Amino acid sequence: MNITVLAGGIGGARFVRGLRHLVNPTNGSTSTQGSPTDSKITDSNITVIGNTGDDIWIHGLRVCPDLDTVMYTLGDGIDPERGWGRREETFHAKAELEAYGVEPTWFGLGDRDIGTHLVRTTSLNSGYRLSEVTRALCERWQPGVNLIPMTDDRAETHVVVDDPDNPGQQIALHFQEWWIRYRATLPAHRFVIVGIEDATPAPGVLDAIAEADVIVLPPSNPIVSIGTILAVQGVEQALRETSAPVVGVSPIISGAPVRGMADACLQANGIETSAAAVAMNYGARSSGGILDGWLVDESDVESVATIEGAGIACRAVPLLMSDVERTASMARACLDLAQHIRRARIDQTS
Ligand code: GDP
Ligand code: CA
Repeated sequence: MNITVLAGGIGGARFVRGLRHLVNPTNGSTSTQGSPTDSKITDSNITVIGNTGDDIWIHGLRVCPDLDTVMYTLGDGIDPERGWGRREETFHAKAELEAYGVEPTWFGLGDRDIGTHLVRTTSLNSGYRLSEVTRALCERWQPGVNLIPMTDDRAETHVVVDDPDNPGQQIALHFQEWWIRYRATLPAHRFVIVGIEDATPAPGVLDAIAEADVIVLPPSNPIVSIGTILAVQGVEQALRETSAPVVGVSPIISGAPVRGMADACLQANGIETSAAAVAMNYGARSSGGILDGWLVDESDVESVATIEGAGIACRAVPLLMSDVERTASMARACLDLAQHIRRARIDQTS
């Protein structure tokens, strides 16, 4: 079975780690508890289409935060507490740059992490495409999935806000500056993905959607992670056209993002912070949207009827990714829901 996932950083990476555990219980974990017996599942290939809208040049280095979070999480190089960056990280280079008074100082550039950015930057400068560089970096980390950036082109998310230094004026900040420096506290008027009009899908992206048996939207930020991937030419269209079920996992539990400030992103786009509102925003495939199925947390069980009423098959299951086993159960619930959707289609046509 081919499973294709559209992923941002932490939420996407943790989900895929659980999915990989379901598909291959020995990869990245010694426990086999809850391991699947279904050979279709154990023979699966996972392709992850990663968000690159967060990418940024910092001190001459090309940094791809979401791709690296996926790569480090699946390659067991992630700092487990922070959820981003390398484990056993130090920040000496960052301190040196600060001592020189060089901006920006708000970006958490770790010393080990710089190794990755140097390899990426020198490879890009030599003419390699981001998708090629990502594949090369993954040779070291062996993530056990095929990780592809959404595009090889530069398309960076910016946030239009009231200029904190010039009252009455608006400015567009790079998403990273808004997110990290301002902790998303400056109210966002709108998001603008600079360069998206000319961004074409990286090699393999459209094929991974067309050839998938199931497409999963993990609990990633619906606006600045998954929304950005969907904005790449042809991606949303490919999702509408695929015969594979598209199943999503709510990143919102009981009206709040589990971690991070996704509520500030939803608010900017006029979307309520609720599992149901996020599903409605993706929309049912039967009415021009992209979703066939949606998982909400068990605490949001009362929204299941509303979501199903909109034409999206919905289940309430535990959605906290507190460990790999529980996350694998979420992934299992996704595949079960996809199977249910497939069967319902066959019943309808026969
Ligand atoms: P980012 O790029 O690092 O912000 O990561 P993503 O976009 O992939 O995912 C961020 C989202 O993950 C957050 O907005 C949270 O809502 C969601 N999230 C984090 N932990 C959990 C969890 O345990 N369960 C669920 N359902 N969502 C989570
Ligand atoms: Ca991100």
